[in-house]
Amino acid sequence: MQSMEKLDCRGYLEDELAEVCLQNGLKKYRANQLFNWINQKSAQHWDEIKNIGKADRDTLNRIFTLKPLEIMRIQQSKDGTRKFLFQLADGETIETVLMDYTNLDSRDRQTVCVSTQVGCPVGCSFCATGMAGFRRNLTVGEITGQILDVTRYLQQEDPEFKVTNIVYMGMGEPFLNYEAVMKAIGILNSENGQKIGMRRVTISTSGIVPKILKLAEDNPQVGLAVSLHAASNKVRDRLVPINKRYPLAQLMEACRVYSTQTNRRVTFEMALNETNASKEEAMALVSLLHGMLAHVNLIPVNPVFGSGIQRPSKEKITDFKRTLEAGNIPVSIREEKGLDIDAACGQLRQRLESEIDESVKPS
Ligand code: SAH
Ligand code: SF4
Repeated sequence: MQSMEKLDCRGYLEDELAEVCLQNGLKKYRANQLFNWINQKSAQHWDEIKNIGKADRDTLNRIFTLKPLEIMRIQQSKDGTRKFLFQLADGETIETVLMDYTNLDSRDRQTVCVSTQVGCPVGCSFCATGMAGFRRNLTVGEITGQILDVTRYLQQEDPEFKVTNIVYMGMGEPFLNYEAVMKAIGILNSENGQKIGMRRVTISTSGIVPKILKLAEDNPQVGLAVSLHAASNKVRDRLVPINKRYPLAQLMEACRVYSTQTNRRVTFEMALNETNASKEEAMALVSLLHGMLAHVNLIPVNPVFGSGIQRPSKEKITDFKRTLEAGNIPVSIREEKGLDIDAACGQLRQRLESEIDESVKPS
């Protein structure tokens, strides 16, 4: 039976597409062709699909929608980072960042940072996305669409352009939209699609403990980054409110299970600000991570309008790093990419909304 509402064809695995095609009287190979056009060639309109005859294309068009996300704005940083602001079908906006795009010769590694929700319910105190509140989860097709549409856009400049790595570090908490994220990873991994290896995918979480454990079971190849930001419950409760639900002891236990089960290093993110960059916090972090397969990324916090949270001095950041090194914890300072283009999660959207607010104010 055909449902009333059309299905977004970018949200289905190849065998799911095949099932829908068969149910609608189409041959199975049509699904393979369609999947290839959408997911490997990043087709955005039915009339691009040349090797499916008009009659079958019309049938597909009756069942499925095939529509790109609308590019509202692109910002390019001096360091090569590009940030896309996309508008979704219901008018909501999300951000997608192409991080390693410096020049057309660096084709070996192209990382895209994708969003998983419109807004975020976790509400971290330093994060523009969290401050804006939660609107909804993204659909599978809206997640894969970010990769496909960025690819398509960049291929206008370089026909060989290909995304090689994906980080789920854009707007939203990926583990609060777990099923859609896992399906998107599967679609983007498909042999007949983008072929982005599982080991080239990293999910960043604020610490949704049951889903860390589930990831280790479901897909041990996918990398895990944990937005720790503090090594004591007192400080973390204030920065990352989900800590009250899953406090540090539980979170660290889940990370240990993930690491043992997958034999993979966990990346811990520390957005350093005036509240978490002290010597005591650094020492607490050393004991917290003792004996674990871990790597710490220190990121000077990107000051977000309205958060009141500031960066610590350069010296404090260097001291923090030294304390970790003295405790034998692998650590690096990550230079924030695209600072000049509001690169921190949710900032471009925040700016756009304030501009829209300005423009509707009576003069
Ligand atoms: N919700 C997930 C993934 C998206 S946020 C998470 O929290 O892990 C991606 C990363 O950006 C997280 O580590 C988050 O803490 C960090 N981040 C958010 N706002 C920031 C800011 N203003 N400065 C520096 N890092 C920030
Ligand atoms: Fe949500 Fe991550 Fe922002 Fe926290 S840092 S509010 S979890 S998007």
